[in-house]
Amino acid sequence: MGYSGQKPLPALVCLLCLLSQCFGTKLPQKVKVDDVELRTIDQVLANAEMQDEDGSNPFYFTDHTHLIRREYDIVYKIEDFVNMKDMNRQKRTAALRNKVRRWTDNVVNFELEDGTFDERDTFEINKAMLEISHYTCLKFNETKEALDRVQIQKGFGGCYSHVGMIGGHQPLGLGQGCRSKQIIIHELLHAIGVHHEQTRPDRDNHVTIRFVHIKDKMEYNFKKYKWSYINNFSIPYDYSSVMHYGKTAFSETGEDTIVTKDPKYQDHIGTNPGLSMGDIRTLNSMYSCVQDSCNTTAEDCPKKGFVGKDCKCWCPGPTRSHPLEYCYQEDYEEKGSLDFSHQCKDYDRNCPIYARLGYCQKRPHLMLYRCEFSCQLC
Ligand SMILES: [Zn+2]
Repeated sequence: MGYSGQKPLPALVCLLCLLSQCFGTKLPQKVKVDDVELRTIDQVLANAEMQDEDGSNPFYFTDHTHLIRREYDIVYKIEDFVNMKDMNRQKRTAALRNKVRRWTDNVVNFELEDGTFDERDTFEINKAMLEISHYTCLKFNETKEALDRVQIQKGFGGCYSHVGMIGGHQPLGLGQGCRSKQIIIHELLHAIGVHHEQTRPDRDNHVTIRFVHIKDKMEYNFKKYKWSYINNFSIPYDYSSVMHYGKTAFSETGEDTIVTKDPKYQDHIGTNPGLSMGDIRTLNSMYSCVQDSCNTTAEDCPKKGFVGKDCKCWCPGPTRSHPLEYCYQEDYEEKGSLDFSHQCKDYDRNCPIYARLGYCQKRPHLMLYRCEFSCQLC
C-alpha cells in the first residue's frame, strides 16, 4: 500500500548531510537538480582524488602500482591495456567481447580490507550490493578464499576499479570521498564488466562532446570504444545510467563538455543516485539472468517493460530510487515518462515502527526498498 504522508524536509536534510560527508572543500562547479545541489559522479570522483593525500598521479601510469588509469576511475594492467587497444582495432571479436571477464556463476567474490571501513562505510557498501542483487541475478560473496576476487580497499587514492573480472585478486579503490552508495554501485558495475555510458560507440547520436572545453591532454578520456570491444546488448543509450558522467566532466573552463541531444536531460546526466532501468537491463543481459525456462517473453510485456530475473514483466518505477516495478498498472505508459524527482518515502505505513524496533539494521534486505524514508536511506 502506498504511503507518502511524510514531510520531505527531513529527507532533504538527511541527503544533504550524506552529501556533505562525501565532499571536501575544493569543489568543481555544482549542478542544481530538484532544488538540491548535487554533484555529478565525475565531480565526486575528481574530488575524491583531491582528498586523498597520496592520489597525486591519478591519470597516468604509476610506478608503484603498474596500473594505467583513465576516465578518472578505470584502471588497467599494462598488458590488458595493450590488449584492449588491439581489440578496439579489430573488426570482429564478438564472441570474445561477450564472454570474457564475466564472474563465474554470477557470483562476485569480494573481501573488505581489514581495518579500513567503519560501520557507516560498510552500511553503504551493503546497500550498494543489495541494490544490484535485488534487480539482477548477481550475488556478492564475501570471502578470502576465492581465487578470483575483488579486494575493496582504500587503495592509492580516489575511487577506481578494473572493468570485469580480470582473474586473481583485483583492487577496487574506495578512498574517503567514494563511500556513498552511488559511487560504490558505479565502481562495482565496472568490476562486473560495465564501461562508462558516454564512451559507448553510439554516443554521438545522443550527446555532443565539446572537445574545445576539455582540459589539455584529457581528450583521451572521451574516446569511444568500438563495437568490437563493447556490447550494448541492444539496450538504448541511457542518460540516467549511473555510469554516465555529468555535463562538465574534464572541463577546463567550467563550460559544458557533454551536451545531450535531448536538452531536457542536460542537467540530469551524471546525477542518478543508483541503478537506472538501462543499467539493470544491461546487467540482466550480460549475465543471462532470465532463465530459458521462462514462459514470459518481451512481447508479453508492455512497451516499456522487459522480462526480469523472476520471469515477470518489469516496468519503469515511480522514482529514481525505485527504478523498476512490476508492470501491473494500466497507466504504465504514463508512469514510464521520465521522473526527475527523488521522492524519499515509505511504502509501508508501519515503517516508522519497524525502524524504531531496529529492523533497518536487522533486516536491511527487506527494509531497503520498503522503508527508505524511515531508515534514512535516501
Ligand atoms: Zn567510472
